[in-house]
Amino acid sequence: MINVMSEEGFFDYSRENEEEKIINLSLRPQNLSEFIGQKQVVSSLEISIAAAKKRNESLEHALLAGPPGLGKTSLAYCIAREMGAKLTATSGPAIERAGDLVGILTNLEKGDILFIDEIHRVSKVVEEFLYPAIESFQIDFVIDKGPYAKSVKFSLKPFTLIGATTRKGLLSAPLRGRFGLFFDFDFYQPPELSSVVARSAKLLDIEVDENSCMELARRSRGSPRLCNRLLKRVRDYAQVVGEGVIDLDITRKALAQIEIDEEGLDGVDRKYLKAIIELYQGGPVGIEAIAASLGEDKGTIEDVVEPYLLNKGFIVRTPRGRVAAQLSYRHLNIPYQKEAQEKLF
Ligand code: ADP
Repeated sequence: MINVMSEEGFFDYSRENEEEKIINLSLRPQNLSEFIGQKQVVSSLEISIAAAKKRNESLEHALLAGPPGLGKTSLAYCIAREMGAKLTATSGPAIERAGDLVGILTNLEKGDILFIDEIHRVSKVVEEFLYPAIESFQIDFVIDKGPYAKSVKFSLKPFTLIGATTRKGLLSAPLRGRFGLFFDFDFYQPPELSSVVARSAKLLDIEVDENSCMELARRSRGSPRLCNRLLKRVRDYAQVVGEGVIDLDITRKALAQIEIDEEGLDGVDRKYLKAIIELYQGGPVGIEAIAASLGEDKGTIEDVVEPYLLNKGFIVRTPRGRVAAQLSYRHLNIPYQKEAQEKLF
């Protein structure tokens, strides 16, 4: 059974456990035509890919930015497939020293893709080591230590770096400046997510009706990873409580059981909003104070919890901190004192 929930009912949208990783591999779109949504990203990418192929060149370095679970990794694999290239994947935190990259870079063939997830988390030293590699396909590395240390220059074959980040703002300007293509991912719309649910259900051999697909889509916080996760939770529920078939009634009951509400918010979203309203009189309040009150990591709140709440207008960010919008009060059934609150904006 897939369980990426903590005791408080916290879905960590940013991480996948091992079982989920394997299932998600089978659910990943295989090429651009299977990639649902993100129309703008896909259509401009199609042009860049066609142009690069026509010139018989590798694709320019590309930066994919957006909240976790929206398909950045999947898109990188689709790009590789469209380019007929091999993809080597790593992540910012996994590259501890510049030396960790030497083997990866020197093994890349012409046109290959190096995918670095969470690229905003590479260290300064690694970042500087990357500059000549991505700019002129050259690396300088030092062998031996002390008086015998020697700097060796090595030419690389032209490759494409695809960086993915949930925090574009944390990327240094020099690193950002070395990408030629930029793609920002938006939250998916319910009809798109409904197609994701239907596609995943087909691949996993799950029977689910159209209304349930739409219900899951509406409650997935705009994220395909989350809608796949909810589909599997509802499937488990249907197998244990019902006859295994997913209909609207079963879907709603299953979602109620895991405390996903009408707007798709979970326990942590509601705890976050309640903290602002009840502990900080609706805000403005700084992220550090909220994180301390919730006992959650500040980065997780900024990466995982806030983007959707901001996007849907539950909260507003002001120079003095986060403020709960009227929608949050309505959603949580808490009276809203209009004048007192509006002074805060
Ligand atoms: P990210 O790298 O942005 O965190 P992923 O690419 O890992 O997101 O996507 C998570 C899962 O969501 C994938 O394994 C895939 O099953 C599903 N998914 C993401 N984007 C799409 C899409 N456009 N169409 C269909 N499924 C998708």
